[in-house]
Amino acid sequence: MTVPRWYPIRTQSRWSPPEPGRLIAHDHAVWQVEKVTDLPLSAADREIWLDAGMPDLPAWKGRPYRVDVQHIAGARPDWAPAQPAPVPAAHMDVPAQKWQRIGWEVYPSSGRWPSCSCCGEPMPCRAELEDREVTARLAEVEVFATRLPGCCWSCGEPISSRQRAVDYPGDNLDLPGGPEARFHTRETCSGDAKRYELRWIAVDPRRERILTYPKCGGILVVHGDGSSECRSGPGLAGDHESEPDCRGHLTHDHGAHAACYVGDAYLARPEDMPGCPRGCSRQGHPGATGYRRPERRPAAGGAATL
Ligand SMILES: [Zn+2]
Ligand SMILES: [Zn+2]
Ligand SMILES: [Zn+2]
Ligand SMILES: [Zn+2]
Repeated sequence: MTVPRWYPIRTQSRWSPPEPGRLIAHDHAVWQVEKVTDLPLSAADREIWLDAGMPDLPAWKGRPYRVDVQHIAGARPDWAPAQPAPVPAAHMDVPAQKWQRIGWEVYPSSGRWPSCSCCGEPMPCRAELEDREVTARLAEVEVFATRLPGCCWSCGEPISSRQRAVDYPGDNLDLPGGPEARFHTRETCSGDAKRYELRWIAVDPRRERILTYPKCGGILVVHGDGSSECRSGPGLAGDHESEPDCRGHLTHDHGAHAACYVGDAYLARPEDMPGCPRGCSRQGHPGATGYRRPERRPAAGGAATL
């Protein structure tokens, strides 16, 4: 059984383990806490404990624990035997945490919880969540249905001949039978265009990217002349790994950027490798994100009017 991730109404989110007797919501069911016990450190827990500076174990908030629970009502977990057998008691194990990140949804101490009159699940029940989803989709389709051909699929305004735009030929992915999708490339519309593009490519992988770039896990190091290169290595938030076909900003998007004159601070201690090996100067340097990308005009698949 995994730890709770669902957010029903009337509960309070808490980071600390729930006390015995309390009702908690988990996976569209209500469970009562029987007992909470500390767990011994596993090898992985031990790593986290060492990383946290070896705090005093009995007082450590991040220490691993087990919560024994009894099913009260709501959805039956997949692993439970078929009805009418009761759902067996269960436990939820929480591994060591450097920062408390695993939350519990705990009902108020009165022990009452809102239940759906149709299915008995804690509110909102899965049927209601589905209804909401359908309503939201319908509202979206209504908006899309008002889009006139030739208008931007994001903002709905006409696209003038002087405005830059991007076309995604083929079936409209939001509105079956609707016009082919077209977007302004201006900042306010390009976010929607990029999201559309990713879905458009997923439909037919032979389609070429127009506005989006694949992601690379490496560190993009930008040089003084605006060129860039991608490097693997340890970073501030873990190891960075370049994609084999990455040619810097020309081919990929990067989550980590560095200006070359400080870039090696990511990879090594600055005193080991001061400045840029190419000798770029800090003066006039475009900065870590100061690269410019050439415009792409794909010949087949998608037509970019840029
Ligand atoms: Zn229901
Ligand atoms: Zn627009
Ligand atoms: Zn450089
Ligand atoms: Zn890269």
